[in-house]
Amino acid sequence: MTKILNFIDGQFTAGSGGTFANHFPTTGEVFAEVSAAGKDDVDAAVGAARAALKGPWGRMSVAERVGLLRKLADGINARFDEFLAAEIRDTGKPRSIASHIDIPRGAANFNVFADQILTASTETFEMATPDGGGALNYALRGPRGVIGVVCPWNLPLLLMTWKVAPALACGNTVVVKPSEETPATATLLGEVMNAVGIPRGVYNVVHGFGPGAAGEFLTSHPGVDGITFTGETRTGEAIMKAAANGVRPVSLELGGKNAGIIFDDADLDKTLEGIGRACFANTGQVCLGTERLYVQRGIYERICEGLAEKARSYRMGDPFDDAVTMGTVISAEHRAKVLGYYDKARAGGAEILAGGGAPEMQGYEGGYWVEPTVWTGLEEDHPVVTDEIFGPCTHIRPFDTEEEGVALANNSPYGLATTIWTTNLGTAHRVASQIEVGITWVNCWFLRDLRTPFGGSKSSGIGREGGLHSLEFYSELRNVCIKL
Ligand code: NAD
Repeated sequence: MTKILNFIDGQFTAGSGGTFANHFPTTGEVFAEVSAAGKDDVDAAVGAARAALKGPWGRMSVAERVGLLRKLADGINARFDEFLAAEIRDTGKPRSIASHIDIPRGAANFNVFADQILTASTETFEMATPDGGGALNYALRGPRGVIGVVCPWNLPLLLMTWKVAPALACGNTVVVKPSEETPATATLLGEVMNAVGIPRGVYNVVHGFGPGAAGEFLTSHPGVDGITFTGETRTGEAIMKAAANGVRPVSLELGGKNAGIIFDDADLDKTLEGIGRACFANTGQVCLGTERLYVQRGIYERICEGLAEKARSYRMGDPFDDAVTMGTVISAEHRAKVLGYYDKARAGGAEILAGGGAPEMQGYEGGYWVEPTVWTGLEEDHPVVTDEIFGPCTHIRPFDTEEEGVALANNSPYGLATTIWTTNLGTAHRVASQIEVGITWVNCWFLRDLRTPFGGSKSSGIGREGGLHSLEFYSELRNVCIKL
């Protein structure tokens, strides 16, 4: 059986925290044994990261670091098929998704932040002084230090390098705690780090669970200078509390209960294509996905029918088969959670337009399958409409006026993303400016320019990453004032 080890100070090591099983979600079979990091391993990883700051890494010029970042992107691409297979085995997601999104973006993040750091500037201010002379202020950009990186399982490599790449670009060192569900690609990246010549200790990986385990050991470690986290809002709260000790900065990319607003004048076919992806892509396990859909009355019936048809059109099966378009959810536990909401919808009197349960999958009986599902008819305070389910499902409700559509979309403690579907430019601008979220897409979904601010408002997070915004989090600005 494959063994997945921790990666500390450039070496693959067994941890003192015992082992845990890694399952292939498509069949439920155990295919790897993961070595969990104990407190001592996390100590060693943070110590190695601290030492690396003072070693060759800390003395490197930006140009040298940029050269290494580009080699990391090339190194992932050179082993594309290995990364792809590892990601598919960990997540059960179809090759059609992982080969177009997870792995290419996982590699591209290193090039994007190599470009960013090369052109990043800081401020300069000249000032007059009371003695009639002057002074010059300028800011130096330096690393924050050791960054703790805690990641989720839905887009493992992509979301991890989204943090590691800017952290390294700014000269930090990192200790990564991948999700316990998806340890493989972060570990494989350790091999690439060594192969391209990243000095030891710059990138470390510790495996294990969150509370009382590697996750908490890392986020409560006094040697960690900043924490970047993507995951559930509840976990974000725990991490923020841990970060309060020592006043460490946090960047939190958290959950969502994202709304889509479809107006009568929307292009029906393009909207169905886009909103179909927003509801069902990656088996609905995308933080930016749409689980609440508000549709203006004139187009409501056609959207209901069209989306139900989309839900029924997915082909489930072996994720390594190119014809397969939907995989399982990540784990038996998550499947139970999603199906629990399916039961609540039924019990609450929802009209089920598509799906609503678990499919029978011959040959894959042990897999974590759920049906893509579309409901209508629930009240706005029903848990299916208020809670992040993180499954391939959405609830549709009609509305009449623009004001009503905006109010319904904003009626959530979350504020991550929204999609607006209209051919009226005025409607698009008006509505976009009123929606309380970090990211709004008009007539598209998940169209990403990696220089743009990415993050959530309300309970969906703190801070923005992407482009210069990432550099702001991963660097410490030091102002120098010189009396002339
Ligand atoms: P999760 O919060 O359960 O786990 C994320 C990571 O945190 C894992 O590595 C876990 O081991 C660790 N962890 C858990 N408890 C911890 C603790 N007390 N201390 C330290 N570490 C701890 O999230 P998940 O289930 O892996 O991912 C799904 C969630 O992530 C969804 O809520 C989704 O919306 C969110 N997400 C958000 C974004 C975004 O950009 N806003 C992107 C992807 C996913």
